[in-house]
Amino acid sequence: MSTLGPVVGYEPGTVDLHPPGLPGACRARIWERSRFEWYSRDGGDPLQLLTEFAASQGVHLADISASPTVTDAFTCGISVLLAPPSVTPSPAPSVPDLVAVAYSHGPRRSPEPGTTVAYSSPGTVNVAPAPDADSPDSGRFASSLTWRESAPPLAADSPGVSEISDFSAGSPGGVSAIGPWTPSWTEAEHAAAVDGVRAAIARGDVYVVNLVGHASAPFGAGPGLGSGSGSGPGPGPALARVAALPGARYGGVLRGERWWVASASPETLVAVAGGRAVTRPIKGTRPATAQGRAELLASAKERAEHVMIVDLERNDLGRVAEVGSVRVDELFALRRWSGLWQAESTVSARLAPGVGLAELLAAVWPGGSVTGAPKLAAIDVATRLEPVGRGPSMGACGWIGHGAPGPGAPHGRVEVDLGLTIRTVAVADGRAHLWAGGGIVWDSDPAAEVAEAAAKTAPIKRALRGW
Ligand SMILES: [Zn+2]
Repeated sequence: MSTLGPVVGYEPGTVDLHPPGLPGACRARIWERSRFEWYSRDGGDPLQLLTEFAASQGVHLADISASPTVTDAFTCGISVLLAPPSVTPSPAPSVPDLVAVAYSHGPRRSPEPGTTVAYSSPGTVNVAPAPDADSPDSGRFASSLTWRESAPPLAADSPGVSEISDFSAGSPGGVSAIGPWTPSWTEAEHAAAVDGVRAAIARGDVYVVNLVGHASAPFGAGPGLGSGSGSGPGPGPALARVAALPGARYGGVLRGERWWVASASPETLVAVAGGRAVTRPIKGTRPATAQGRAELLASAKERAEHVMIVDLERNDLGRVAEVGSVRVDELFALRRWSGLWQAESTVSARLAPGVGLAELLAAVWPGGSVTGAPKLAAIDVATRLEPVGRGPSMGACGWIGHGAPGPGAPHGRVEVDLGLTIRTVAVADGRAHLWAGGGIVWDSDPAAEVAEAAAKTAPIKRALRGW
């Protein structure tokens, strides 16, 4: 089987479809080497599967407290999309629950359509075997799950390259045929769910619950979903606009053969460098005006809800941290995202010896800012009240790869930077899907919650339309 080839356009007139979190310095020289796609119905623990796949690609995550080195010059990293655990079916079931795409460094591409990319240097990526491809784990992956090894680098007539040329800015891809949006609940149903949370708070079950709604729309950007075949620009140009929204720290696009996901997320679920883990919960939103800023800073409700989530994150990180190392580096800092003020805090901790990515994610995922507190009770309340499953939203997307070279690590050390998939759109089976949530506390106003959810999705809907 083949991989999807280069996914990035870099020259003027091409569309930038880099995966979320990819280091900018590597963008023009990475190639997809291997990918792993998993659906919860396949069984198994996604955190373990991710760790095993990464190991098969030479990225060792079993103990990230000790800053493992990247062992070769060819490995760039692994792009990750991880849906939250869910008992409710996703409205976009074609999107996998875990995607891990491994990239290798290769020669810098010539993105000019019609040119052949030369790949003569020995040991380049797509032809190199995975560093431990002979290990028993690799065989198990290959036999039981979707794991595609890449073909040699692409010639200009391959589907991947032709698709990039299809995405040129001059193609009829500027304005997409999208809409109308159909919410999975009415405003009245949304307001009733807010009241349902308030009832759970009154019973003493929870303090705060993040309630997530969903809407979908027909997305008529033409065929070419993943394959590059057919006419029309495909969803690439529209999704690149989503990924480029201002404040999108984890802006990027991932795609498979039958699905696309674009993130404009500003929120760090967890990042690890040098053995220290950081999370940056966002909670509290107002319009990006002077009045909105003053309101957000003065709101006792927003601050109380925010501090509850910060406490939850401190507690979560504390489960995998060295004793006494958890600290709040920044509390209730205001940051802009696409016309909104959002309140963000930074919580960090030194990882206890021996902690791997799976243990870390088990402690912090799903992120407290999209569950509520106490976490398990809040998830239970939300699951009963939300109209559909969260799909790939409210999970994780980002990058696991090399940091800067340094002493003892000529190819860099493994760093993790995973965003939380808020402000994220999925495209599959001819429809675009959007989710938006808000934290509900006792004094939440149902009408205000409905308005806040609309404010969070409006920039993404505009970006998809192209104006
Ligand atoms: Zn790289």
